[in-house]
Amino acid sequence: MAGVSSTPTSIFELALKRPSLRGADAHLLATLFDIRSGQAPCRLSSKLSAKYGLSMDNQQQVVSVTDRVLGGQVWYNVERSRKPQTFMQAEPQQDPTDGGRTCDFCQWETLTAEDTFGRIERQHAVTASNLFKYCQPCHGLVLFKHHQPLEFSLPQLADVLLCARSWFRAAHSAHPSAMHPFFLWNCGAHAGASQFHGHAQVALSEVPFPGSERLSAAAAAYASSQPGRSYHEDLVAAHRAAGLALDSPHRRAWALASLAPTKDMEVVVIGSSLECADFQLLLYVGLRALVDRLGAATFNVGIFNISLDASGTESSEAAPLLARVVSRGKVSSRASDFGGLEVFGQASIGNTDPYAVFTALEATLLEHS
Ligand SMILES: [Zn+2]
Repeated sequence: MAGVSSTPTSIFELALKRPSLRGADAHLLATLFDIRSGQAPCRLSSKLSAKYGLSMDNQQQVVSVTDRVLGGQVWYNVERSRKPQTFMQAEPQQDPTDGGRTCDFCQWETLTAEDTFGRIERQHAVTASNLFKYCQPCHGLVLFKHHQPLEFSLPQLADVLLCARSWFRAAHSAHPSAMHPFFLWNCGAHAGASQFHGHAQVALSEVPFPGSERLSAAAAAYASSQPGRSYHEDLVAAHRAAGLALDSPHRRAWALASLAPTKDMEVVVIGSSLECADFQLLLYVGLRALVDRLGAATFNVGIFNISLDASGTESSEAAPLLARVVSRGKVSSRASDFGGLEVFGQASIGNTDPYAVFTALEATLLEHS
């Protein structure tokens, strides 16, 4: 673990202090990530300098982090917080269902479809079949039994995950040739949701999802290039060396303030299964940290490496469950957080420093422990 005196407090400090980080795992930072810092210059007129409070002879420190294993990349520059936002909207994220009175998902018994193998129902969540499918043979929904999408407790989230676990087993049992599960959750219109009511999607496909395949292939390539090592363990260790890894109370799951976030505020949660209480807790902590402490009102969740083992026992050789949570930008802005850099460059802009995300994670875990 990095020594206290050398633990950075921002991604910019990490870029400068990285060579002096102490600890057995510090070298893993360089193995997994290319982190570099540089100055980007420009000249401003006196009028422009006065308007944005920037020096006329301008130098901006820009840090890039490139994920050497998965290939993602993120760019950080604190000056971008001054960037003018010209597409603001006055009343963001209004509930179009009159507080749930016209919400199909609040009336799930009659206004949602049912899978041919039936529904999975728990106290706080229930499954439905997606009425407008993009995946075959199985494409379902897991609905919270309450309407407000940002207001959920740990037991409510745990029931969504447990419903999903049972749905994957039932779907695979009904369609044994479909071997590729995926869990995703779009919360809010900016994140791609078409319904206000909180809900996740569960898909079971005969063809693999490329994102899952890329992760599996990259982890396998890492293990063969680093004999005796595990990508997922080293991912945790590299974040711990940077001071960005949080252990669950029983050390059965880990939450990482991602060094190379797919989108803003990314938290990566690693655990054994959807049934693992520590995994459920840290996913909850990650989501509540984004919503309650960092102001995210729209987010995506994706869960990779879901096991279809009907016995419920996890193989020690299986890759651990890995969830990603990202913010999808400011709901006060009509502008998309997905531009050409993301669509074509496979890179993103780091608006929130991962050390701010980690501080929010620590405080949220403390609050819920
Ligand atoms: Zn509803």
